[in-house]
Amino acid sequence: MRFDVLTLFPGLFESVFAESIVSRAINAGQVELHLHNIRDYAPGRHRVTDDTPFGGGGGMVMKVEPIMLALEAIVEADLIVEQKRSGEVQVPIILLTPVGEVFTQHMAQGLERYERLVFICGRYEGVDERIVDLAVTHEVSLGDFVLSGGEIAAMAIIEAVTRLVPGVLGDMRAIVDDSHARGLLEAPQYTRPAVYRGLTVPEVLVSGNHALVSRWRRKQALIRTWQRRPDLLANAELTEVDRNALAAHRGGSPVGEIPHDTDQRS
Ligand code: SAM
Repeated sequence: MRFDVLTLFPGLFESVFAESIVSRAINAGQVELHLHNIRDYAPGRHRVTDDTPFGGGGGMVMKVEPIMLALEAIVEADLIVEQKRSGEVQVPIILLTPVGEVFTQHMAQGLERYERLVFICGRYEGVDERIVDLAVTHEVSLGDFVLSGGEIAAMAIIEAVTRLVPGVLGDMRAIVDDSHARGLLEAPQYTRPAVYRGLTVPEVLVSGNHALVSRWRRKQALIRTWQRRPDLLANAELTEVDRNALAAHRGGSPVGEIPHDTDQRS
């Protein structure tokens, strides 16, 4: 997997990724990270990358030329045009933006299937919309809040995707059980000591019975999801056993569609 990042602040990535699973993956040859300073592609002696917005208003907007030149230096220009025209994406060109689709584990799983991902990190008031028209295949938001730049959002996505690259995590079981991997939140976890300040761990976890442990974890994952993020249950793959377990937890109400649009925390 290869990541290309267009940014005005490449140093941010070096410092954060120096101590992360991403740097281990880079050292192991499992992923490549290429940082491109947009300023290097800005024409003119002053290498200007932003300008005042047409129509007025505060702040600055990132100019279209430097970003397009940077993109065309790393991805074939014809490919950029063709994938915009046809919608058949070979190299996702991802703009980080609060107006984009909110990033999820499901999206990370989809992105991991590509060989290469390109990220454009905005700054100031954002980027000239023509970059979206000409090149961007995915507009992605980290959540419903506003950051000062796309770098932290790009880092989060790169890290989430890197974890999914085969071989990066020592034990791939962690990925399958992780929260959101299969539409549910993960069950609570415990490690030694078995008793701490009078608090014990659930007996089943020290029983040595793997089948029971696995059943307990599934049930806890279902209950937690129902309590904390009932909206997730609408898209989770639930078996009849899951539905019965949830119904039993909810007080024996009949098995059926699990409501997801009401607050069920009580
Ligand atoms: N004026 C923009 C708006 O209201 O939509 C916000 C610009 S923000 C201050 C500067 C840059 O930070 C954006 O261009 C984007 O790249 C990045 N950014 C901010 N919030 C983000 C979010 N929630 N997800 C992804 N990127 C974000």
